[in-house]
Amino acid sequence: MTKTNKPAIALVAHDNKKSDLIDWCGHNKELLQSYSLYATGTTGKLLIDKVGLEVNRLQSGPLGGDMQIGAMVAEGAIDFLVFFWDPLEAQPHDPDIKALLRIAAVWNIPVACNRATADYIFTSRLLNEKYNRQLPDFEPHLNRNV
Ligand code: PGA
Repeated sequence: MTKTNKPAIALVAHDNKKSDLIDWCGHNKELLQSYSLYATGTTGKLLIDKVGLEVNRLQSGPLGGDMQIGAMVAEGAIDFLVFFWDPLEAQPHDPDIKALLRIAAVWNIPVACNRATADYIFTSRLLNEKYNRQLPDFEPHLNRNV
């Protein structure tokens, strides 16, 4: 959770998916306003300008924004990741994208990579409960013989 004690959502959309994310955020504006929102630079600007959401903007994705979000996930500052990545177009920052998806899996963060999954996550009854997100047992890794 963030300093504000609101749970935090990180939002990212590749260029061909930005209109989809804007539309989804427009439909879910009221709900999203009860979260702290973070986004990569261009995605964040569009969400501010076109949807009217309050968004903390990070660097543009190809300039390190995905990695900034990944670092926040590792610090426990992000509770949900909505990442509409483009399965049909190669991205210059492919390693960063993989790193973000990987670190979200490491820390057991709910990840929506498309609109259907985002719909399911943000209509879950678990949103209204205190959810105890289980963390993997990192001890074997931390205490491994090296
Ligand atoms: P952008 O970055 O929001 O700055 O376009 C998204 C991305 O490609 O990771």
